[in-house]
Amino acid sequence: MEHRQVASAEVPRQADVVIVGNGALGLFLADELMERRAGSVVVVGPSDRDAGASRAAGAMLGCFGETTSESLRTDAARTRFELGVRGHERWPDVLRRLEEFSSTGFPLQVATETHVVLNAIGAELDTVNFESMLKALDEYGKPWSEIDPQDIPGFRPRTDARALRAVCLHEEGAVDGRGVLAALEARLHATGATLVDSTVRRLIGSGDAVTGVELADGTVIEAGAVVVAVGVRSEALVRTVAADLELIPMFAGLGFAMIAQRTAGTPFSSVVRTPNRGFACGLHVVPAGPGREYIGATNRLVDDVSNVTWVADVRYLAQYGMQQLDEQIARHEVVQWLSGNRPVTLDGFPMIGWLPMNGLYLMTGTYRDGFHCAPLLATHVANELQGKPGTIDPMFSPTRRPIVTRTIDWSVEEYVQHNMAAWFETGAEAAPQMTTTQLAAFYRARGTEAYEKLGVDYALGPDVLWYAEGSLVGARRVARYLRRVGGETPVLAPASSGIGDAR
Ligand SMILES: Cc1cc2nc3c(=O)[nH]c(=O)nc-3n(C[C@H](O)[C@H](O)[C@H](O)COP(=O)(O)OP(=O)(O)OC[C@H]3O[C@@H](n4cnc5c(N)ncnc54)[C@H](O)[C@@H]3O)c2cc1C
Repeated sequence: MEHRQVASAEVPRQADVVIVGNGALGLFLADELMERRAGSVVVVGPSDRDAGASRAAGAMLGCFGETTSESLRTDAARTRFELGVRGHERWPDVLRRLEEFSSTGFPLQVATETHVVLNAIGAELDTVNFESMLKALDEYGKPWSEIDPQDIPGFRPRTDARALRAVCLHEEGAVDGRGVLAALEARLHATGATLVDSTVRRLIGSGDAVTGVELADGTVIEAGAVVVAVGVRSEALVRTVAADLELIPMFAGLGFAMIAQRTAGTPFSSVVRTPNRGFACGLHVVPAGPGREYIGATNRLVDDVSNVTWVADVRYLAQYGMQQLDEQIARHEVVQWLSGNRPVTLDGFPMIGWLPMNGLYLMTGTYRDGFHCAPLLATHVANELQGKPGTIDPMFSPTRRPIVTRTIDWSVEEYVQHNMAAWFETGAEAAPQMTTTQLAAFYRARGTEAYEKLGVDYALGPDVLWYAEGSLVGARRVARYLRRVGGETPVLAPASSGIGDAR
């Protein structure tokens, strides 16, 4: 289904709501506002979705498949986790709404279940996260069953990477991410929203209010409200009108994935994935329409937003796809390379809420499950724009102080475990030069030293600590911000089980 974006001369000069950003969050919000007939809506974003996360997403509708030892360990993390649980319920309705606008030629929902495999390629972290997932499933009464890994259609790893255990999550599947975005655009076009193929250069303010946006070509659109949903570029855009606003810092989680045509072997008919591990979302394959499979995904925090792909990431997907998922992946024909930047906040929680300037709303920071949560967040934000009560916890306010979920010791231990998982998955060998215990001690010393250098007492997630430890730019940003807002030594009850027990 063709739909067009307006040329610059046709750009409306006024709108009730201007949404800046055409990723999953921006488009789902626009759709929700149009559904409610909440006035005129303009979405601004480049048609290639430059550097955006949504265009690269595997679009797993994963909630329990994403569980880690951290997901339910604190009240804050649980509240975040439940965004996924609630978000999940929205998808049957979303797909019903969107299907008629899809032009993919196959159903938007490409998988209805997920198999999570526990193999011995990573480290103890895999086992810990796998068990956390089963506990969470039982706690929330969600169906799952144990399955012989050999019975998973398509799953044919090399024998030395075979799975020790596998479970089927009967209610978690995936959608065709790019198909969903295109269907949303088609529906927005049909319902009368305006999609502008451009970028916003700056937000326009007067006094303590934001009154509009200026596009790259200088065109100005006046707006009753401006929603910034430009993912990892959100902080920079907000600063064009509120330079000194104290926002939670945002980092780019550069990710790489590929879509390939299968030429041999049995295709996958479900999502097949490992648990989250090694600073990333696990290795996974997602059916991507007839004969095609999406293989993803890497994640590394980087200094600059870009579309580059690291050779090491290409190797990761190609080699581990062949070894851990299906040897026949060696014969796949790649049809699309995908890269995008996840919006990662310093404390790992989303940033959703009004900013101090009237008329300015921020919606981002969804990290690795923003596609999945987008319909739920859209309902919440639409409510807030309409002056109605929100539907999610106000703790995600963008101007909050960083949310505390761990102690420094715990943070260092997580850093150790993620490094160990990455070390073993990437084929590095500890013995005989160095035992696993010595290796862990090495990373523990490194993590501890990183905190000494940073001089902060706020405990970071393993990915942010890894970044701050390896990047001068990252370390400066983290340290300056935390010193400015003042650290806070977290006081948390020791958890009875979790990552620390993996030692
Ligand atoms: C490789 C990878 C795999 C992922 N897999 C999953 C998954 O399986 N399930 C899941 O739920 N989530 C997944 N995610 C995470 C998910 O993609 C993100 O959380 C979510 O898509 C963020 O959406 P967004 O709309 O906030 O941002 P984005 O998708 O980044 O969209 C922002 C848009 O704004 C545009 N923009 C930037 N600057 C401007 C400007 N100045 N003016 C106008 N427009 C601008 C960008 O070009 C982009 O199109 C994955 C991410 C990656 C990178």
